[in-house]
Formats: sequence, C-alpha cells, structure tokens
Amino acid sequence: MTNPESAPFDVSKPSISRVYDALLGGKDYYPSDEHVLEHLRATMPEVDELAKLNRAVLGRGVRYLAGQAGLKQYLDLGAGLPTMENTHQVAQALQPDARVVYVDNDPIVLAHGRALLGKNGQTSVITADLRDPAAVLAHPDAQRMIDFSEPVAVMLVGMLHHLHDNENPAGVVDGYLDAVPAGSHLFITHFLDTGEESRALEKSFLNFLGTGRFRTRAEIMRLFRGCELVEPGLVPLSRWRPDGIVREKLTLVEEIIVGGIAVKS
Ligand code: SAM
Repeated sequence: MTNPESAPFDVSKPSISRVYDALLGGKDYYPSDEHVLEHLRATMPEVDELAKLNRAVLGRGVRYLAGQAGLKQYLDLGAGLPTMENTHQVAQALQPDARVVYVDNDPIVLAHGRALLGKNGQTSVITADLRDPAAVLAHPDAQRMIDFSEPVAVMLVGMLHHLHDNENPAGVVDGYLDAVPAGSHLFITHFLDTGEESRALEKSFLNFLGTGRFRTRAEIMRLFRGCELVEPGLVPLSRWRPDGIVREKLTLVEEIIVGGIAVKS
C-alpha cells in the first residue's frame, strides 16, 4: 500500500470526498467526479439531498456530543473536505478546549484541512487509511491530541458504507472502540437498504464510484457493537434530533440514510 501522506492527487479517478463535496454544493471537482455525479443524479435526481441530510446531522450530532454528552475529544474518521459546520467548529463552540483529530485517506483533505485550520492548535488532520485502526491510533498526532483514558467521540459519519463487506467494517469499529474507555460515544450514519428503491442507487454508487453499500437495519445495528444507542436510536437522519418539525411521511431520499449515537459501557 502506498503511504497516503505522500500520495499525489490522482484526478483521473473519482474521489469520494470530492463527489460528496460536490453534492453539498462544492466546486472542487474534476471530470472523473462529474461522470459519477451525472450517473448518481440520473439514477436518483434527489441524491444531492442525501449528502445534505448527512452533513446536517453531523452538526446536530456533534452539538449533542459536545453539549449533552460533554465530550472534549473527537476522532473524526473519514472526515471529508472541510465545508460548513466542521466538527471542530461545532465542538469548540460548546467546549472551547475540545480537541479534534480528522482522519482521511484522500490527500486533498489534508491540503484543504490545513488551509482551514490555520493556527487551531487543538485540531489536526491525519492522512491515513482508517481501515488500519492500530496505525491511526499510533499516529503521533493522535497520541498527542487524544487522552485515551478519557472518553472519546468516535465518528464514522457517512463513512462505513464506503467499506465493502470484505473490508470488515465491524472489525474496523472494534479497533477504535477497544482503544477508548467507557463513556466514549460512537456516531454512525449509513446508507439503508430499503429494497428495490435503494438498490438502483447502490448499483450506481458501486459501478461509478466503486463504493457505497446500502446495508439493512440489522446489519447497521451490528456496527454499533453492543453500545447503547441514545434517544431516538437508529433512525432516518431527518428524525435524529431535528431542529424543526419533521413531516409525517418521509421522502425516499430521507428513508435511505439512517444514523445514531451510542455510548460504550
Ligand atoms: N464524514 C464526513 C461527513 O459525513 O460529512 C465526510 C463523509 S465522505 C462521504 C467519506 C469520506 O471518507 C471521504 O472523504 C473519503 O475520502 C473518506 N474515506 C473513504 N475511505 C477511507 C479510508 N479507507 N480511510 C480514510 N478515509 C476514507
């Protein structure tokens, strides 16, 4: 495997972080990404909304983690390109001394992350493959920023569906949970298999981006590894502690992405 810290940007292949950022309205994408976007939008014209729902719940989730749960340490795995309401901004608004380690294997995230973070000494961006928890946790920045005897927010937001079944997503989660103490929280959002409706989109993700597994509710529940879900449990993202009123009947795009936060005991 090449060392992601020194990997060049390869713009001939689509990048998950650039495609996601484009769905959020960002402009940093290349023809290879555009090709994926065209196919995703042709399959489901509302696909941009999927990314927006995910990004919005990230903000609400971190507000809960920093506010009600009082957490001061964040391991944001598969962090993506900096955009609105980044984890450190939301967390540090409530916990000024909160420390955030962003991890992503796409070197473009490091370049943009450093530009955004500037002098924020409580935040770091690591370019690493999160499928190797031991290597991520041993990284000097993770060791310096995180006190592993205190609770940590382990964030795998919009991320685990980009791991194939043979990449053992549950084992990856274990690798992080085993390293953090009781009282740590696990925050997951994930594409949901709703049958025929989600299958066409999954096919488009897999064919054109290469990843994007829509797992069943039972499969996603297993990724929480026995941690106890806080209210309202594992639910469609628009029903996870919404800021406003949510309509009774959700749209298809709202149904196909779920998430929750759980506590390690
Ligand atoms: N967590 C952010 C959010 O929810 O707004 C970004 C989610 S984005 C859909 C998924 C991110 O995971 C991308 O930036 C991608 O580069 C990153 N990623 C995918 N596979 C990875 C891996 N094996 N190691 C580290 N990062 C990975």
